[in-house]
Amino acid sequence: MNNTKYIFVTGGVTSSLGKGIVSASLAKLLIARGLRVTIQKLDPYINIDPGTLNPYEHGECFVTNDGAETDLDLGHYERFLDIATSQANNITTGRVYQSVINKERQGVYLGKTVQVIPHITNEIKDSVKLLGENGDYDVVITEIGGTIGDIESLPFVEAVRQMKWELKQNCLTIHLTLVPYLAAAGELKTKPTQHSVKKLQELGVQPDILVCRTEHNLDQDIRDKIARFCNVSSDSVIQSIDAKSIYSVPLLMQEEGLDKVVIEKLSIETKEKPNLNKWKKFLKNQENPTSEIHIGLIGKYVELQDSYKSIVESLDIAGVSNMCKVKLKWIHSEKISAKNVAKKLSGLDGILVAPGFGERGIEGKIEAVRFARENNLPFLGICLGMQCAVIEYARNVLDLKKAHTVEIDKNTPHPVIDLMEDQKNLSDMGGTMRLGEYDCKLGKDSNAYKAYKKVTIKERHRHRYEFNNKYLDFFEKNGMIATGKNTSTNLVEIVEIPTHKWFTGVQFHPEYKTSVETPHPLFIGFVKACMG
Ligand code: GLN
Repeated sequence: MNNTKYIFVTGGVTSSLGKGIVSASLAKLLIARGLRVTIQKLDPYINIDPGTLNPYEHGECFVTNDGAETDLDLGHYERFLDIATSQANNITTGRVYQSVINKERQGVYLGKTVQVIPHITNEIKDSVKLLGENGDYDVVITEIGGTIGDIESLPFVEAVRQMKWELKQNCLTIHLTLVPYLAAAGELKTKPTQHSVKKLQELGVQPDILVCRTEHNLDQDIRDKIARFCNVSSDSVIQSIDAKSIYSVPLLMQEEGLDKVVIEKLSIETKEKPNLNKWKKFLKNQENPTSEIHIGLIGKYVELQDSYKSIVESLDIAGVSNMCKVKLKWIHSEKISAKNVAKKLSGLDGILVAPGFGERGIEGKIEAVRFARENNLPFLGICLGMQCAVIEYARNVLDLKKAHTVEIDKNTPHPVIDLMEDQKNLSDMGGTMRLGEYDCKLGKDSNAYKAYKKVTIKERHRHRYEFNNKYLDFFEKNGMIATGKNTSTNLVEIVEIPTHKWFTGVQFHPEYKTSVETPHPLFIGFVKACMG
């Protein structure tokens, strides 16, 4: 019999308590004990996926191998666990309703009135159980987005209540709350936690474990008090204290006994000693860098650092594997001009030009590329960043002064970046880009090959425009080489300038394939180049 265990993680009091990190940390600890674990995120918003969301709304959109545009928490899951997620790992209200409404139109409900309970809640439950169904996982952890008390998360909490009832000993709920410190009173306050748990109880869910986010240590008295008011045992009150690095959270959770309590409560049989050697080595290296570099991150969403979450983490992790502290300087592309670029980029060891969409800030990105190219400054361009490198080269080296991407100038006389053929007759914007993993073949004499050390790589994509192959000969004869290509479509995936110290633009998104235990080769190569 399939004996998959289900763990739900909810959050209360405020958002941004680190539910994703706690969920990923718990999964890490269970995996370290030899269990097969996956994590899923249920998002209560009505968008089908975050693909159409502005990064200001919801941070980065993370792309999976199977081309799902998902919540950035899936990036954390992959970086912590070193396992790939898929569409099944991120479900939104929009997706749930879309599926139910499609079934209603197909007559699946046989004349019944279609309602939130049971039809919507069943759909939610099915998408949770789907992951556990084939016996691939011992534990499925499901994180519910939003905060308890939100109107839009009610059907999700109701689904949790029902699953808890149905699965009994095979289901567990963890509630994450805040224990604030009131400086004026000089005290930690438990009342917000009590209220949040009450709210959850009103909805029929008794949490089994409370993870309390705090800036100060919770002493035994406070733990006992929370336990007493919230119907949990004292050892199920887990402190989650602010950490210097998110990657130390698994060890903090282990010290607090989170994995131990979970295993006891779910009666899971596992190896007693978790193996976290590789993880600990990473943390040790992270704390003891022997060098430091400064990298400029050029983008238009720099006010909201979550917009480039995977890039930031990839650079940090690649730095650690080079025993190097990567210090980022966030530079707003809209504020870069030909006049100030030298000043803006002064003192940097390399620049990364970020992905993006639309016109805002693009000329600043192109100026930054020019500066990096002319000054032999290591350069990594990702997606739009690579396209900017192509445009810059066309304008300033090939003398195609008005060269542009068709995304921004439909009438450019030199469309060096053009709309992909299969994008031409689309009307829907959601889920229609070139998404997910594709093969890329590397030229041997390239930065990319030196980094990956193999000829065929697989990377994830999210774009509508591509290098216009009509210009390829002209570029290559004049020093910018396509060193990576998709062999079935001939699409240019990587451009490089071999005479430059390290100049690489990639059409794909390497940042989606970084994990703590498998740092990404291209980021390692870039960081090394920046280290000189
Ligand atoms: N806007 C560009 C395109 O659609 C680049 C996309 C990106 O940077 N992810 O091709």
